[in-house]
Amino acid sequence: MELLNGRYTLDGMDLLNLASEFGSPLYVYDTATIERQYRRVEKAFQGVNLKLKYACKANSNQAILKFLNKLGAGLDAVSIEEAELGLKAGFSASEILFTPNGVSFEEIKKGVELGLVINIDNISILEQFGNEYGGTVPCCIRLNPHIAAGGNQHIQTGHIDSKFGISVHQVRHIERVVKSCSIRVEGLHIHTGSEILDSSVFLRAAELMFDAAQQFPDLKFIDFGSGFKVAYKEGDVTTDIEELGNELTERFNSFCKQYGRELELWFEPGKFLVSEAGVLLVHVNIIKQTMATVFVGVDSGQNHLIRPMFYDAYHEIVNITNPTGKQRIYTVVGYICETDTFGWDRKLNEVREGDVLAIKNAGAYGFSMSNNYNSRLRPAEVLIHDGRALLIRKRESLEDLLRNQVNIDI
Ligand SMILES: *Cc1c(COP(=O)(O)O)cnc(C)c1O
Repeated sequence: MELLNGRYTLDGMDLLNLASEFGSPLYVYDTATIERQYRRVEKAFQGVNLKLKYACKANSNQAILKFLNKLGAGLDAVSIEEAELGLKAGFSASEILFTPNGVSFEEIKKGVELGLVINIDNISILEQFGNEYGGTVPCCIRLNPHIAAGGNQHIQTGHIDSKFGISVHQVRHIERVVKSCSIRVEGLHIHTGSEILDSSVFLRAAELMFDAAQQFPDLKFIDFGSGFKVAYKEGDVTTDIEELGNELTERFNSFCKQYGRELELWFEPGKFLVSEAGVLLVHVNIIKQTMATVFVGVDSGQNHLIRPMFYDAYHEIVNITNPTGKQRIYTVVGYICETDTFGWDRKLNEVREGDVLAIKNAGAYGFSMSNNYNSRLRPAEVLIHDGRALLIRKRESLEDLLRNQVNIDI
């Protein structure tokens, strides 16, 4: 988002105009930012055979998926439905890594039938997979290195109490199952958590992967998951992707020499590609002075953007209607009957009822985590692409709330 001649814009498009044209609340994304972020990762890892699998749980709108497909990405799908959305958007099944957690073997079978790359996350499923497909269908194995990547504990997945992956300490057990069932293991996977703040921590996890990889002679790829952190506010530590690229490229290439074959290096960025590409525009319904603070009540809430309430995440808020107004301190809250606070004690240019606020970093885990609590409708989504603002999802209507309800006489 940029302030141009006193007006807030996203890739050159005037955001206030979009709010009046498409209504409020409104998610707005731009493809230019997605492409810039995508190219950055590509460039940082140009010294290896890199494959990017976009983690589509971050934002699964068909238009976003199609755009990432066009850029050359594959997909990381955590449910069979995400995989199906990916296929609909034009990804071929072999480009989709299916990384579910805690699903039944029936769902894994569906993934095999669709032709997805299957990523297995526990020994029980590995045994069932081996019994059914040993010697025929290859798979990838998700390891848990027990290295927490740092940052917010709510989004760490690699620690000892985590439910994700098979412990690196169980590699002997994996080997036994693999051997007994003649399973072809073509990939190893880790996803340690959501934030790489320090590339040396990440490289420690990589070493554990390289150790484990020696036990699997049929590998085609090693998938390092994600964890690329973006800035949510000024001064945030972010992942130095260029530094990580340099260090991991060198180490990966020397590993491949030792392993005896050139492998593909996979990553599954979600947030890094789409977070900064999106804003949520909301209208100010009321200003309410209490004994504690001045509340700004907006026409949105935890039903549209739950990260601040769910993860205690910080999302920067900007009053785009009044860019030159005097700065005052506010607490921005939603309209849901819960304590849904977007941000305490925010310095905003003076806010008046009717103003439009932009909530930043809303491209990832915004709409995709939205819901209909309080029977509120979900917002519309607009994509800025090639100088045009395109509606990519209609605002919901009352019919959407009733669609699957069965009308009975009672
Ligand atoms: C959520 C997830 C990602 C993406 O994480 P980001 O922080 O959005 O980059 C990647 N891989 C797996 C397996 C995930 O569950």
